[in-house]
This record gives sequence, C-alpha cells and structure tokens, in this order.
Amino acid sequence: TEELLRKSDKLSVVGELAAGVAHEIRNPLTSIKGFVQLLQARDSNRAHYYDIMRSELDRIEFIINEFLVLAKPQAIRYQQTDVRSLLQSIAVLLDTQAILNNVQIRIESEQHLPLIECEENRLKQVFVNVMKNAMEAMQEGGQLLVEVIKEHEDRVLLRFSDTGCGISESRLSKLGEPFYTTKEKGTGLGLLVSYKIIEEHHGTISVQSAVGKGTVVEIRLPINRCEIL
Ligand code: ADP
Ligand code: MG
Repeated sequence: TEELLRKSDKLSVVGELAAGVAHEIRNPLTSIKGFVQLLQARDSNRAHYYDIMRSELDRIEFIINEFLVLAKPQAIRYQQTDVRSLLQSIAVLLDTQAILNNVQIRIESEQHLPLIECEENRLKQVFVNVMKNAMEAMQEGGQLLVEVIKEHEDRVLLRFSDTGCGISESRLSKLGEPFYTTKEKGTGLGLLVSYKIIEEHHGTISVQSAVGKGTVVEIRLPINRCEIL
C-alpha cells in the first residue's frame, strides 16, 4: 500500500494559523520559564514540583518550535548541499538512541552524487523526523537502511527502510494530519512539518508499509529546486 502525500491546501491554512499562534506563545513562555528557574533556585523544598513544571514547559516549547517551522521562514537560503554527508552527520546524532534501541543504521550511497540545492537545516529536520520515527517503530531493535540514489538526471531518491512495526492501511492515510500520533509522547507534527519542507523543495514523500514487516519512506528531491518533478 502506498500513499502519495500532497496535502498542500490543508498545510497552508494550518501552517499559517499554527505559526501565528506559536509565535505569540513563545515570548510569554520564555518569561515563565525564567521565573520558574528563579523560584526553583530560592526554594529547595519543592524541587520535584519545579522539575515537573520545567519539563512541561520544555514540552510546550518543543511543540511550539515544531509549529514555527510551518511558517515560511524569513531568510531561507538554498545552498548546494551534499546530502550524503548530511545524512551521515544525522546518523551520528542519533547514534546514542540507536544503541539504546538496539537499532543498526546503515547508509548506502552511490559514489557520484550531485549536490542538491536545498535549505540544509530544514532538510536536516526532515531526515531527523523520518529516522526517529523509524527508530521509534523498532522498539525490539532492528535495522534502518538509508539509500541515496541518483534516480534520474535531475532527481535524487532518498529511501529510508525500517524493520519496525509498520502502519496499517487505514492509518496510512492519516499520516501528516496535524496531531495524528500513536505514541504516548508523540506530537503528531513531525510528518506534517516534513511534508511542508519537502514541498518547499518541490520534492515528494511517499510511504509504503506492511504491518509487522516495516516501513519505507521515499523522498524525491530535484537536484535543482526550480525543476518541477
Ligand atoms: P509523532 O512521531 O510525534 O507521533 P509523526 O508525525 O512523526 O508524529 O508521525 C505520526 C505517526 O505516524 C506516528 O505516531 C506513527 O504512528 C506513524 N509512523 C510514522 N513513521 C513511522 C514508521 N517508520 N513506522 C511506523 N509508524 C510510523
Ligand atoms: Mg515523529
């Protein structure tokens, strides 16, 4: 089963609203965090309560930051980027979690890959989202294979295959909907944000999955952003 994800109309409305609200919440949040910290330093009897407050505030901040990505960034700078080394640096970043989850991450890439015109930080966010999802789907351990393939003269394919729990057909169509999550601590924003970013790059994401076998996420990116797929 495969679901090609182009939800641009949904995205633009949700994105604008979300980013607007997120922006408004950020300042008061920062102020509250500061005062909680201040109080905690003066009140050693209630350390536990302050810890809870701070971790809850951190969670709000995390969600807010995901929302802000949905907004069009002010200064977006597209640069020629080596996606292979970008992926390798992310694999290093996720290494500790991978070891904890007993997951092996392997990156296989063609030798002569062209550079891709992209916004490196935003693309990084997509790859982290997708790779984290893969690891979280492999609670009993498994393998995450990342392939980088020059699929076409002007297009690169990034394929993320995991051996995790998989996604049933009925749930597949819900991916990328705001707040759709099956995780206790999930936000259900990771894929929404990822779709938005890939769309900005004129790329596509598709997800194929089989319950109990695993999931394959394919991201296609034009080498030159102006060439529509
Ligand atoms: P979150 O990770 O916070 O739940 P996401 O938008 O990243 O939000 O993912 C939404 C849902 O899609 C997840 O809760 C999970 O059910 C499903 N999902 C995404 N990637 C995978 C995967 N590789 N394997 C299994 N399920 C996945
Ligand atoms: Mg996620």
